[in-house]
Amino acid sequence: MSQNPLLRVENVRKSYGEEEVLRDVSFDIDRQDVEVIIGPSGSGKSTLLRCVNRLTEFQGGDVLLDGQSVLAMDVNDLRRRVGMVFQDINLFAHLTARENVTLGPRRVLGMDREEANATADRHLAEVGLSDQAESYPAELSGGQKQRVGIARALAMDPEILLFDEPTSALDPELVGEVLEVMRDLAEGGMTMLVVTHEMGFARRAATSLMFLDGGYIVERGPPEQLFERPERDRTAEFLRRLT
Ligand code: ADP
Ligand code: MG
Repeated sequence: MSQNPLLRVENVRKSYGEEEVLRDVSFDIDRQDVEVIIGPSGSGKSTLLRCVNRLTEFQGGDVLLDGQSVLAMDVNDLRRRVGMVFQDINLFAHLTARENVTLGPRRVLGMDREEANATADRHLAEVGLSDQAESYPAELSGGQKQRVGIARALAMDPEILLFDEPTSALDPELVGEVLEVMRDLAEGGMTMLVVTHEMGFARRAATSLMFLDGGYIVERGPPEQLFERPERDRTAEFLRRLT
């Protein structure tokens, strides 16, 4: 436990009806940390991310962002501070890449068109899409669309970015370009919470790896520890199947 983590998840419990999805989940994320979350399908990875920015409500525990409970925050303010990139690439089809990225800064941050365009162009450059600013989603590959999604999240100047299987819907040959952008962000000091099964990314970019199963964190530690000397048989078995 660090003194002043950026994110503290504290004894979070979450059920859907009778089904307990998160039983007692606690962890801290420090600034500039990259936490990779793995676990079987249905283990609650997406639900955990959704508790952090309150896309879903939870029944017990608390989530603190920079020391403040997300339950006490204005939800729009929370979602500006906690960016999210989803598996499904949900860009507006009738807007260009640049327009998709400027939407949030204009509506939520109140930027004028000129400032929002400059912000969008800066973040499109960051994800390697300067030359696609005028393209519509239908003209972009899946990997390019997902990179626009990342630029859109960055344009809100978030304190932490959540990624929910950002490459799972992509054709294999397009996965690398998205992971490369994510690695660049990690190296640039972005704080990230990433659900992914891309273990190459986890090895190279994660400061910590978390194995979630049955509503609990089964094991958590530096990636080399989980890969090379996992303490739990379940972790070893899961990673063996994944790699
Ligand atoms: P993961 O992302 O690890 O695959 P999820 O967090 O999506 O897991 O789901 C965890 C469990 O919660 C699953 O059993 C799933 O069926 C259930 N669940 C998820 N979302 C809902 C929902 N909106 N309503 C009811 N059950 C849900
Ligand atoms: Mg999921």
